[in-house]
Amino acid sequence: MILIDPDRIRDLLSYRDGITVMREAMAKLSAGETKQMLRNILPLDHGRMFGVMAGTMGPGGAWGSKLVSVTPERTDPAIPSHQGVVILFDPDTGAPACQAEAGAITAIRTASASAMATDVLARTDARDLAILGTGEQAYHHALAMLEVRDIGEIRLWGRTHENAEKLADRLVAETGIDVLACTSVQQAVVGADIICTVTAAQEPVLPAACVKPGAHINLVGSSFDGPREIDDALVAGSRFFADSRESVLAQGAELRHAIKTGIVDESHLVGEIGEVLLGNVEGRLRDDGITIYNSLGHIVQDIAAAAFIFEKARVGI
Ligand code: NDP
Repeated sequence: MILIDPDRIRDLLSYRDGITVMREAMAKLSAGETKQMLRNILPLDHGRMFGVMAGTMGPGGAWGSKLVSVTPERTDPAIPSHQGVVILFDPDTGAPACQAEAGAITAIRTASASAMATDVLARTDARDLAILGTGEQAYHHALAMLEVRDIGEIRLWGRTHENAEKLADRLVAETGIDVLACTSVQQAVVGADIICTVTAAQEPVLPAACVKPGAHINLVGSSFDGPREIDDALVAGSRFFADSRESVLAQGAELRHAIKTGIVDESHLVGEIGEVLLGNVEGRLRDDGITIYNSLGHIVQDIAAAAFIFEKARVGI
């Protein structure tokens, strides 16, 4: 069995490749080719969680499982929020073939999936990017968005301003793009064409009133029916897409809250991003409409990314 560590994963899986891999994976999911078990999340002490997921890409494709611990509050900032393993099995022999570190895969596949959705749903002239959150996902989302639009400026907001400043410095050094660490959500998002919400906030941080007509939002930070990053009005005022219809109806906190308050019903979920890719559902309808891609994260994204990495590692690229 090949072991693949985070550094090797970062070498083998660029955002550009990740976007292609996510495009194929999400189309397969929506075409009904993949199979997956319902995600299990075990709550632990101190707000931590342990997640267990399993799935297959379909006939002849890879299958496997992800075991991941999530630690939202950490005393040591060097510890990543997501740690674990993705295990792939050999479709020919049935033997375990590869064990890859889950944190790096999760970080790159999530940002790549958001970038793919942005490519599909955002206006083609989108240039101003706002990111709410300053952690691992914020960093990867900033870099992945550069692959799909000609980004002119990035505006960052974080609960801890010092962390926004640190991330801004890092992104400027790595990309040369203008990056502004903002002191308020409003400063970051007013006028933004693309907004990524990648916080561990419990209550909405992004009010509808701040979002400009025509914006695209990647709603990423809440992975289960609890924490919400956006308010009901923003859900209701958007054309709302999911990574997986089943997951978002069962565990998407923002949509479920808006349904519970009666402001929308289940039909507000227009479709899966894969359905748009397959041409079965229309994506953006109007230049001045707001689109939302709700990412809860999906095991087929992990399996597809790990299979891509494994294949490159196996042939020694
Ligand atoms: P990090 O822990 O690295 O960063 C979390 C960020 O959220 C930090 O900027 C932190 O601010 C901020 N934050 C924490 N609590 C609050 C709060 N109450 N209000 C506002 N901001 C807050 O996590 P990641 O970047 O790895 O992940 C970000 C979120 O995305 C998490 O909730 C995670 O579970 C989720 N996620 C979703 C995935 C998906 O597929 N949809 C995949 C992976 C992660 P501060 O600097 O002050 O601590």
